[in-house]
Amino acid sequence: MNPNAKITDEQFEAYLKQIRELAEGPFDEMQKEIEVTNKFPEEFYELAKANDLYRYYLPSQYGGWDLNELEILRVQEEFSRGPGGMRMHLHHAADLNWRILDDYGTQEMKDELMNKFQDKSVYVNFALTEQTGGTGADLHTTAEKQPDGTYLLNGEKWLISHTDCSDYTYVIAVTDPNKTKDDRLSAFIVPDDAPGFEIIEMPHMMGCRGAGHAGLKFTNVKLEPKHLLGEEGQGMEVAIHSLSVSRVHIAMSNLGMAQRMLEMSLRRANDRVTFGKPIATRQMIKAKIADMQMMIHVLRTAIYDFARDYDIDPKNEYITEKAAICKLFSIETVKKVSDEMLEIFGGDGYFEDSPYGPTERLYRDCRAMWLEEGAPNVQRITIARECQNKEGQVKYNF
Ligand SMILES: Cc1cc2nc3c(=O)[nH]c(=O)nc-3n(C[C@H](O)[C@H](O)[C@H](O)COP(=O)(O)OP(=O)(O)OC[C@H]3O[C@@H](n4cnc5c(N)ncnc54)[C@H](O)[C@@H]3O)c2cc1C
Repeated sequence: MNPNAKITDEQFEAYLKQIRELAEGPFDEMQKEIEVTNKFPEEFYELAKANDLYRYYLPSQYGGWDLNELEILRVQEEFSRGPGGMRMHLHHAADLNWRILDDYGTQEMKDELMNKFQDKSVYVNFALTEQTGGTGADLHTTAEKQPDGTYLLNGEKWLISHTDCSDYTYVIAVTDPNKTKDDRLSAFIVPDDAPGFEIIEMPHMMGCRGAGHAGLKFTNVKLEPKHLLGEEGQGMEVAIHSLSVSRVHIAMSNLGMAQRMLEMSLRRANDRVTFGKPIATRQMIKAKIADMQMMIHVLRTAIYDFARDYDIDPKNEYITEKAAICKLFSIETVKKVSDEMLEIFGGDGYFEDSPYGPTERLYRDCRAMWLEEGAPNVQRITIARECQNKEGQVKYNF
C-alpha cells in the first residue's frame, strides 16, 4: 500500500470487496434494462458517486486517496467483473478523463476543472478516431490558428465513447497541415457546449451497452489558447503517452472479466454431471482450466510488473512497450478464456441469465477490447518498434 494513501490497508481490502459486490449485484441487475435502452439510468451515476468510484484514483490535492498505480488497477479489476459499458465508463473516469488535463493542461483550465472530477461534476471523453482516416496519426480534423490566437476546429470524430455524459472532449487535430510528421498535430480540451459542436448518433454495439458511443462533428468551433494541451505540435505525444497508460487499464479490464469467467467455469464444471461424473473430473476439461489459469496468471504478473515500473517512474523507457504487451496479451487471454468458458458451459452458456453469471454478456462485452484504444496490430507495431530499438532488451524493477 502507498504509505501516503488516505485509507488504511484494511479499508482498502474492504473497498475491493465492496466494489466487487456492487459490480456483480446492483450493476449486473441494472444492466438488464440498459441492454435494451443503451443508456445508463441516473441511479448508476449516483451509485458510482456513493461508492467513491470517481474519487479513489485521484491524488489527494483533487479530493482523492493517493493510491499508487497498482492499487488503482486492483480497484479496476473488481468493477471490470460487472457490465462492460459501466466498466468502460469507470475505466475511462479513472484514467484519460482527468490524467490528460493534469499532465498537459494549462494552469487556467486546471484551476477551473481539476477539483470537479471527484464527484463527476466534470467528465471528459477522448476523441482520436476518425471515419475518414486510419488508426493513430492519419487525421483530418483541423484546428486552424486565427490572428487573435484562437483556433477554429473543423472536422469529425467517430466511435467515441461517453458522449452522452461528458462536459468536455479531448480532441487531437491538425494545426499545421504543411508539416508531414506527427508535429502537425496538437491536442485540445473542447467544451461540448461550444457552438458548432454536434453529436451524431451511432447504432447499438455488440456489447458494452450504455457507454454513449457516437460520432462528433465540429463546425467552426472556437477554441481559446487556454484549451491547448501541451505545446502546439505535441498532439501525438499527448495521445501516445496517455494511451500507453490507459492500455494497461484495458488489460486490467480483461483480467477482471477473465478471472470472473474462470471462477464461473469452475463452479459450473463442478456442478454439471454427465455420464455419472462432474465434467470437472474429465481430463479434457482440466486441460481447459489449466490453460485459462495459465494465461490469467501470466497476464496478472505482466500488469503488476508494469504498475511497479510506473510507480517508480511514470515516464520510464519501457512504459510504452510493456503497456502494449499487456494489452495485446490481455486480448489473447480474454479470447481464450471466453471461448473455453462457452465450451465448459455447453448450450446453457449461450443464454442470458445463467445462475452462474452473465456468460453471454461477458462473451460479447469482452470483444470490445480488441478495438478499444488500438487494435491488436497497433500493439504489435508498437512492440516491434520498441523491441527493435532496444535490441530485444527489457528491464525489470525486482
Ligand atoms: C467500443 C469502442 C469504443 C471506442 N472508443 C473510442 C474513443 O472513445 N475514442 C476514440 O478516439 N476511439 C474510440 N474507438 C475507436 C477505436 O480506437 C478504433 O476502432 C481502433 O483504434 C481501430 O481503428 P479503426 O476502427 O479505424 O480500424 P481501421 O483503422 O479501419 O483498422 C481495421 C483493421 O486494419 C488494421 N490496420 C489498419 N491500418 C493498418 C496498418 N497501417 N498496418 C497494419 N494493420 C492496419 C487494424 O489493426 C485493424 O485490424 C472505440 C472503438 C470501439 C469498438
